[in-house]
Amino acid sequence: MTDAPIAFLDLKAQQRRLGPGLRARIEAVLAHGQFILGPEVAELEARLAAFCGAGHCVAVSSGTDALQIALMAEGVGPGDAVFLPAFTYTATAEVALILGATPIFVDIDAATFQIDPAQLQTRIDAVRAGKKLRPRALIGVDLFGQPADWPRLNAIAAREELFTLDDCAQAFGASLADQRLGRAATATAISFFPSKPLGGYGDGGALFTESAERAALYRSLRSHGEGASRYEVLRIGMNGRLDTLQAAVLLAKLDVFEDELAARAAIADRYDQALAGHVVTPARVPASASAWAVYAILLRDGAERARVQAHLRESNIASAIYYPRPLHRQPAYRAAHDGAALPVAEEIAERILALPIHPDLDTTDVARVAEVVVAAVRGT
Ligand SMILES: *Cc1c(COP(=O)(O)O)cnc(C)c1O
Repeated sequence: MTDAPIAFLDLKAQQRRLGPGLRARIEAVLAHGQFILGPEVAELEARLAAFCGAGHCVAVSSGTDALQIALMAEGVGPGDAVFLPAFTYTATAEVALILGATPIFVDIDAATFQIDPAQLQTRIDAVRAGKKLRPRALIGVDLFGQPADWPRLNAIAAREELFTLDDCAQAFGASLADQRLGRAATATAISFFPSKPLGGYGDGGALFTESAERAALYRSLRSHGEGASRYEVLRIGMNGRLDTLQAAVLLAKLDVFEDELAARAAIADRYDQALAGHVVTPARVPASASAWAVYAILLRDGAERARVQAHLRESNIASAIYYPRPLHRQPAYRAAHDGAALPVAEEIAERILALPIHPDLDTTDVARVAEVVVAAVRGT
């Protein structure tokens, strides 16, 4: 046993693994000099669409901007209720409020941590009964890299006439019923934040849709609402483009992405085996393959979690809590929340802990992390 640090993410090891191809991609952009919407952006869009089988891909400046552009394209605004899980990153709810809409927080499934379809129906019914807001959109999140229950979510959304947006920021590369995420909802947003499974060297994101009209609207909205020419302004948009340099980096990373997904899945299986019976290991969504952005275990309570985290820290092993508070408990969202009880999200926030999972983690690292967790739980 060594005490060499085990990081949450090792972008330097990945950079070594990528080799000269990465630098060649960057050099090509420096040589042609088209830093905004250069040829690499279109090449990346085509490769991403092909990777997940989507009809259209529009690269944008971040995952958050992807979510916002998708809602702007539908005209979501004041008076609209946007349903989303209470247990997610702030960006999912932030975009609704930025556009003047009201986020309606929905509780999660205790086993998969994904938005609970039965709770979604309850929350929609309550909003309809309240007669103040119009149920308008559902943002489903594929939390930690596992797909949300899209078949059930889509059935509810169709009946209730909700626009569906897949916040797939953590789950590009995941699949459901042998189909890669990207077509599970009417629009799908992904993120290239460096720590996501397909991460760049800065901010970036993309939108997928099967609708040519929506794709055209997304392209307009990411460039200040421009029309056929650059100085024809058709609508209010934003500066939401992906940099050419980021596209170049992502193209190099796409070459190894399938291998990285397989490496992450193998690590998750190893953790499962080593930790079974000691902690609650992540439940697998049926008929799915996770992108394993996060490997999250559940401890008995907050005290046990604190003990495990302390042991990991002493052993030089990184860990993280996603998320220490559900969104409806955050100061910024308190005023927007209707006060509904969301007990599962609250309990999970107390007990959850994420362990390192990245493609450059080797088997001895995984064994060492698991051993420290088991020892901490046993109190040895
Ligand atoms: C990372 C993340 C986002 C935001 O992506 P950025 O590219 O950082 O803007 C949105 N939703 C979820 C669930 C995320 O994890």
